[in-house]
Amino acid sequence: MHLVIIGNGIAGVSCAQAVRRLQPTARITLVSAESAHHFSRPALMYLYMGHLRWPDVKPFEDWYWTENRLELVHDRATHLDAAARTVHLAAGPSLTYDALLLATGATTRYYDWPGQHLRGVQGLVSKADVELMAETTLQVQEAVIVGGGLIGVEMAEMLRTRGHGVTMLVRDRHYWGSVLPPEEAALVDAQLRRHGVRVHYETELTEVLGDDAGRVRAVRTSRGTELPCQWLGIATGVTPALDLTAGTGIDTDRGILVDDYLQTSVPGIFAAGDCAQRRSPGPGEAAIEPLWYTGRMQGETVAHTICGQPTAYRRGPWFNSAKFFDLEYQTYGQVPARPGADEASFWWQHPTAALGLRLHYRADASRALLGVNALGLRLRHDVCDQWLRRGVPVGEVLAQLGAANFDPEFFAQHEPAIVAAYNARHPDEPAVVLRRRKGLLSRLLSV
Ligand SMILES: Cc1cc2nc3c(=O)[nH]c(=O)nc-3n(C[C@H](O)[C@H](O)[C@H](O)COP(=O)(O)OP(=O)(O)OC[C@H]3O[C@@H](n4cnc5c(N)ncnc54)[C@H](O)[C@@H]3O)c2cc1C
Repeated sequence: MHLVIIGNGIAGVSCAQAVRRLQPTARITLVSAESAHHFSRPALMYLYMGHLRWPDVKPFEDWYWTENRLELVHDRATHLDAAARTVHLAAGPSLTYDALLLATGATTRYYDWPGQHLRGVQGLVSKADVELMAETTLQVQEAVIVGGGLIGVEMAEMLRTRGHGVTMLVRDRHYWGSVLPPEEAALVDAQLRRHGVRVHYETELTEVLGDDAGRVRAVRTSRGTELPCQWLGIATGVTPALDLTAGTGIDTDRGILVDDYLQTSVPGIFAAGDCAQRRSPGPGEAAIEPLWYTGRMQGETVAHTICGQPTAYRRGPWFNSAKFFDLEYQTYGQVPARPGADEASFWWQHPTAALGLRLHYRADASRALLGVNALGLRLRHDVCDQWLRRGVPVGEVLAQLGAANFDPEFFAQHEPAIVAAYNARHPDEPAVVLRRRKGLLSRLLSV
């Protein structure tokens, strides 16, 4: 079997590795226009900030690919001929395949703003974007970032480390209003301000204004203000890369449509990662999941189907983590920005430090845990995942809180305060008693 994979990101590479394990004799070719070798996209920001060098963001040594008989083609796939099972490349010879995986990722989403093509206006997705950003921010004094998601904050951190002034334009009333409840958003907002980022809420970009040299000189906002800037970061989300599907008969919507087995509408062609859109996502699940770990899971899952072991993609409870400058954020399961009618939410916040924990749960007799948000506290993934899969009641979760504490030496002191706050707010419920965890000494002695 010859498997051709377009895209050497986490989805493509995870599929290649799993197919190599499952079918040692398979021929596997990875095609990528972006870079000769796979790299960690979430680590791109550290290249700009000078914390890492290019070899540091490549998880595998360059010899790894030859050693595992994974053929790398550094070229752009320009056209697919599904009937002839052939991929045409910009420079090299065409490739015929028995199975094809489209793992083409995503690109910056623009909204047709006037002036968006001026020099100094860009998104942050690719290696080329980081290189361009390093070049175009050299003389910048003021930068504006439109969009307040995770990539917007990364851009802000990158620019602030080089001393540039940063203003963020955020459409919602509070930070990441479609995702974060107001209390979490307020902690992030305080963090942004502490690092010198100015945030304009309920404000949208309407126009980019240029100078005589074709470079951005200011932006106009929905509030009618003009903000001078020499650089504009577009962080309004990503859009799946669909170019290759044109004229192939592959069904697309916002992404490449796939069934539970990540199979497209054309037999023998699969899609995974940021470019894929599931036709029937599970309840509460997004059809497109533009995340690193879901890309890896989809790549590994589709490998089984390609190797004749049909396997449906089942993600399990949602998980995501990020950093807002030095404030760590983890989310597990479902935590909506506002609880639904049959849901309840308990939020604890440290009186002075940037630390918070939210337990979101069913408001019925089960009190089953639905989701967790942690800011400034690091939790253990396996413990939270099990709580969510088993629908553990919130009282029991609180009693076991120590089991989920990833850094007990740093954060153990907050567990009694969290449980006391819950008991004080729920006097009509049986009081939760925090179960004692093994201390460091007894854990060391028991090893
Ligand atoms: C700045 C940034 C920070 C992020 N941080 C996090 C994080 O902290 N945690 C997290 O979970 N996720 C994070 N993400 C998201 C995560 O990186 C992506 O979800 C993941 O990398 C997607 O992997 P993928 O394999 O689907 O696609 P990609 O990694 O995008 O790989 C697709 C590859 O295919 C190539 N390609 C496309 N079309 C062609 C063609 N026609 N011919 C040849 N090659 C082609 C592309 O150039 C690209 O190299 C971040 C994303 C960005 C941009």
